[in-house]
Amino acid sequence: MNIHNSELLFSRAQQSIPGGVNSPVRAFKSVGGNPLFMKSAKGAYLFDEDGNSYIDYINSWGPMILGHAFEPVVNAIKEKVANSTSFGAPTRLEVEMAELIKSMAPNVDLIRMVSSGTEACMSAVRLARGYTGRNKIIKFEGCYHGHADCFLVKAGSGIATLNIQTVPGVTAGVANDTLTAPYNNLTAVEKLAAENKGQIAAIIIEPIVGNMGCILPQPGFLEGLRKLCDEEKIVFIFDEVMTGFRLAPGGAQEKLKINADLVTYGKVIGGGLPVGAFGGKKEIMQHIAPLGNVYQAGTLSGNPIAMIAGFTLLNELKNNPSIYSELEKKGATLEKGLREILEYKKIPHQINRMGSMMSLHFCDHEVVDFESASNADIALFNKLFHHLLENGIYLPPSGYESWFLSNALSSGDIEKTINAFKNFAF
Ligand SMILES: *Cc1c(COP(=O)(O)O)cnc(C)c1O
Repeated sequence: MNIHNSELLFSRAQQSIPGGVNSPVRAFKSVGGNPLFMKSAKGAYLFDEDGNSYIDYINSWGPMILGHAFEPVVNAIKEKVANSTSFGAPTRLEVEMAELIKSMAPNVDLIRMVSSGTEACMSAVRLARGYTGRNKIIKFEGCYHGHADCFLVKAGSGIATLNIQTVPGVTAGVANDTLTAPYNNLTAVEKLAAENKGQIAAIIIEPIVGNMGCILPQPGFLEGLRKLCDEEKIVFIFDEVMTGFRLAPGGAQEKLKINADLVTYGKVIGGGLPVGAFGGKKEIMQHIAPLGNVYQAGTLSGNPIAMIAGFTLLNELKNNPSIYSELEKKGATLEKGLREILEYKKIPHQINRMGSMMSLHFCDHEVVDFESASNADIALFNKLFHHLLENGIYLPPSGYESWFLSNALSSGDIEKTINAFKNFAF
């Protein structure tokens, strides 16, 4: 495979950008080698600077659920852009976007648009603190909620991939207000809540985890957290930045039939442009400025180009619910194909999947939390990653990330992926 242009760009990039990348998860630090530079993408395919093509299982870490350069989104952006790219004043489209989100997402009375998932989660926690008058939050080991200070404690995604134990720059005061528990361990959370009675503002969780590989909640876990939050008057925050509009039109709340008090969105909600949002019950959301005193703002929040991209994509998802059963079928086919090969070759493995999110851990135990996810053969994953890349298949460059399927994948693409697995010398 010729990657000459990518190599040249990466050496130039390192002269001007820290580590040559604008987000650490794009570097190939854990899998080894250098990142590829992408030039364009269409449907299920990425094209790099050397003209190689890849079947994409990252899909911009989620947003490209209907494939790259999806025509309705591209056309809507083109049409909108001539009317100016920002106003700093309210627009009709923001009202329509809020109404569309409310028509899809359960338990959202009010919604505020921001520009990233980080901003959404950070603002939701500030709101929960302002609303309850309490300081502490509980998060789960291996869950990632963006890079705001309060979340950089035992976090997943790039922090797990790079094995960063404590993040310099996060003050002890901030870190001490973030309590952590293992995912799927209700008893540990109940213990924290008892030890810190009356002090917990919020529990924030990925209802289906995507940032330590894909991990599913065990039966009763989220229900137990919901009950605990009700009893202790803790704000229950679903971080649906990955799962929102991906697992169902109403995200994990709809899929798992559990109500959150606040919910955060990102990724799919912007159709590939920088968008996030947080919303929820009116009783809580009305504390946000200018209705209340919990301050939150953004010069480019609700930006018209970002809004038209997100609005067009969400509208498409709302009006074509069969997309979700198609994605489920594609996910199931890929999962079945990989299982058959791994079982035939007697390779210990664990595949976790819900709909179009899945991951593969090389281990012989169930993967239910960060510890069990970490206890896998990462070296084997890294070898597989490079084999697939050379065969034109682009997985996330880390064993700690979920794969994202897009509905642009054809059955031929999935077959090609399964065949590339078949040819790997385990
Ligand atoms: C990606 C992600 C975030 C952060 O979103 P950004 O847009 O990268 O700031 C937060 N929570 C979850 C669950 C995510 O996957």
